[in-house]
Amino acid sequence: VAKRLEKFKTTIFTQMSMLAVKHGAINLGQGFPNFDGPEFVKEAAIQAIKDGKNQYARGYGVPDLNSAVAERFKNDTGLVVDPEKEVTVTSGCTEAIAATILGLINPEDEVILFAPFYDSYEATLSMAGAKIKCITLRPPDFSIPIDELKSAITKNTRAILMNTPHNPTGKMFTRDELNLIASLCIENDVLVFSDEVYDKLAFEMDHISIASLPGMYERTVTLNSLGKTFSLTGWKIGWAISPPHLTWGVRQAHSYLTFATSTPMQHAAAVALKTSDAYYEELKRDYLAKKKILEEGLKAVGFTVYPSSGTYFIIVDHTPFGLEDDISFCEYLIKEVGVVAIPTSVFYLNKEDGKNLVRFTFCKDEGTLRSAVERMKEKL
Ligand code: GLN
Repeated sequence: VAKRLEKFKTTIFTQMSMLAVKHGAINLGQGFPNFDGPEFVKEAAIQAIKDGKNQYARGYGVPDLNSAVAERFKNDTGLVVDPEKEVTVTSGCTEAIAATILGLINPEDEVILFAPFYDSYEATLSMAGAKIKCITLRPPDFSIPIDELKSAITKNTRAILMNTPHNPTGKMFTRDELNLIASLCIENDVLVFSDEVYDKLAFEMDHISIASLPGMYERTVTLNSLGKTFSLTGWKIGWAISPPHLTWGVRQAHSYLTFATSTPMQHAAAVALKTSDAYYEELKRDYLAKKKILEEGLKAVGFTVYPSSGTYFIIVDHTPFGLEDDISFCEYLIKEVGVVAIPTSVFYLNKEDGKNLVRFTFCKDEGTLRSAVERMKEKL
């Protein structure tokens, strides 16, 4: 393997899902729903295939999807963007992040991350040869240590890569925090890459896109996808929204990474995004019920549960159960209890910071969540 990837192992999500299968454990690890996406979206994909929409799509997205993305962004943020010049459709948000980094970051540029961070960020920054500066968010509220952020910014800082609602903590960036990040970025001429794939799973406060703050659109790439919102994580449809001068870089990288994204799935994604707000309200209602089951269950089991405002994840402190660290706790949980969680140390540069924390997901049917809680109550 090339040096730039030497330090990375099989992703923790793959590792844990394989162990779940091997031990017949209930998988509250990798974040994928164990229920299907909506019928009307699946039908739209079948129809697109039957209608012969099966050859390469336009590189930056089928026109209908670019327009639907722009329209939803306008509903969500009030920002009017040109679907032809400011929206790029990619193969999932992970590719949108990679295209953004590879298209806009030079080797040796500094990029700031908030730990715990989604694992692809570090690997992709490493592929781009970027230097990572990491700011650690700490329990109980995982708020941004402003002074640390200020002192992390240097003349070589090119971008801040952030995520709200935040995987794995469930933290949502507050308006005050976003204003602060915005003013630092404007003052120091820094870009923001904002991963907002959980924007429709915002429970405790309203989601705010940093692009909508004054002076920020021109320096922000907003990244999103279909998977979480429509329970179709295997479709891998994502997108980047950015002003034309940044879009050029994103599209150049995208053109040579994947060239284009699956044509029929893009047509179906356009149908999905044109759905009414009632869909999102129902989604949120369903998830809130699931969240309650898991949150209360984990408390009853005896974990220290940190409040989660958004995403479909909850972080807990496992130390009441006396195991050494997050990895040994998760191993014990799989083998002795039959439940899978995600150890969080992989999401930090300094692995020590994550050793007390593990992540559970509630994107599973209620019966599955209840059985997992029962197993833990019995055997932990
Ligand atoms: N985003 C999903 C999670 O955090 C996992 C995606 C993946 O397996 N790479 O669980």
